Amino acid sequence: MSAKFIFVTGGVVSGLGKGCVSAALGTLIQPGLTIVPIKCDGYLNVDPGTINPYEHGEVFVLDDGGEVDMDFGHYERFLNINCKFSWNLTSGKILYSLINKERKGEFLGKTIQIFPHVIDEIKNAWKSIAKANSADVCLIEIGGTVGDWENQWFVEAARQLKRDVGAENVLYTHVTYVPFLNNVQEFKTKPAQRDTALLREKGIVPDVLMCRSEKPVDDKIKSKLALFCDADKVVGVPDVQTIYELPLVFKNENVQVLMEQRLQLKTRDLTQWKLLVDRLKMPQHHVKIALCGKYTDLRDSYASVIEALRHAGAHLNCGVDISFVETTDLKDFSTDADGILVPGGFGSRGVEGKIRMIKHARENKIPYLGICLGLQLAVVEYARNVCGLHDAHSTEIEPTTPHGVIVYLPGQTDVTAKGGTMRLGAQKAKLLPGSVVAHLYQKDVAIERHRHRYEVNPDYHDILQQGGLVLSGMSPDGKLVEFIELQGHPFFVATQAHSEFTSRLEKPNPMFFGFVKAALDRKLKCKQWL
Ligand code: GLN
Repeated sequence: MSAKFIFVTGGVVSGLGKGCVSAALGTLIQPGLTIVPIKCDGYLNVDPGTINPYEHGEVFVLDDGGEVDMDFGHYERFLNINCKFSWNLTSGKILYSLINKERKGEFLGKTIQIFPHVIDEIKNAWKSIAKANSADVCLIEIGGTVGDWENQWFVEAARQLKRDVGAENVLYTHVTYVPFLNNVQEFKTKPAQRDTALLREKGIVPDVLMCRSEKPVDDKIKSKLALFCDADKVVGVPDVQTIYELPLVFKNENVQVLMEQRLQLKTRDLTQWKLLVDRLKMPQHHVKIALCGKYTDLRDSYASVIEALRHAGAHLNCGVDISFVETTDLKDFSTDADGILVPGGFGSRGVEGKIRMIKHARENKIPYLGICLGLQLAVVEYARNVCGLHDAHSTEIEPTTPHGVIVYLPGQTDVTAKGGTMRLGAQKAKLLPGSVVAHLYQKDVAIERHRHRYEVNPDYHDILQQGGLVLSGMSPDGKLVEFIELQGHPFFVATQAHSEFTSRLEKPNPMFFGFVKAALDRKLKCKQWL
């Protein structure tokens, strides 16, 4: 039996949230069915790992070490699944594979062309991903907008696939935009009409038209769009308070009925999901978290950290208000936040400000969570201010430091392509019995995803421990520090991993849960004193 293929395309403008729409569509499907999300990006980079987050948002890291488009974060967070690197296709990846085949002589002297070779390469990639993963459903999101040159071959492959696998196995979903013009107080459907006309010109008639708009579109608009765009179902997708509301919006609009009837898919009960969404929308408590970074003007760079905080909050009935602290020119290190978080980062800009914020958290017993660079700087701060190694630093930032407590340790990765020296993907850590992290994970091992080059210098493990720093999680060979914490502090925990990548709405990451809980406990206690 063929897998079902649900396509998601978009038009009018980018930034309508196709990734969230795709993930939310998958959320309607009954758990137990194997959903494989595939993201197709038009650009020529073979993978997005080397793209500056300023340009393309966060680099999301998978268990298998794949550095992928941040939409995979949405897929994993909504669907509670672990995705694979091979599910992120780019034009670069497709062309690279095709040209390699040509070089190996696989085409026996034939002329290699966009039609049929590139299109076939794409369709075969989809089919083989479906087969290799025993997919019941492939959720294929095509990046950009339908008119973009660089995405044309993906759109054409989507059109052709229906002929290959049968109409009963394919659903085309198109996300379009319906603006509301304030001066005439009306929705305007023309952009969506032109946009779907462009899609139909390419041979695809959308089954479902998702109408993004600031406020809900009315039934009159929906019928008009159904008629002009030839769509079976027109769904209003207004701005929502939280993206996790989308599956509920789709359910209200009966999208699941279409999935059941057209694709013969079983759909899911969303009662538990709704409970979490209600808590996200109207939490009983609130905490304020200071997120110290340098790309603070581009929130996409920290998307997974922000989501992980929200997931933890949903399970604690606690809204997390994030205050972004740009540490580059920071002069005042006091904060009214209930918790301080230093996330991952590269390079030296803003580092001293982050170290001062960590010192503030440690000395004032404010809950602290350190992620990757956040662990490294916590070690630097501790070495300097508690262990008396005044000039201690990371050699990434100060190569000539006399006390390189954080250093580059060669041989931690076998990745040699792409100039890659990065330690990437899921790594196991042995947790110290009785430690805060062992308690949080409820296990003696933790598996989290990594993306870094530098490590705590093994020459300083003893000095740091003698100074009171607890090395609470080590790599199985005992060489690398994966988790640290402090005793006698309400919550001072950091990890070399990026624990935000494994957090899901229905299953928050233990470290984020512990951190938000500690922040909430602190806030409630402070309230008692007032
Ligand atoms: N720059 C540091 C390293 O490469 C930390 C990386 C990170 O925070 N992801 O080790």
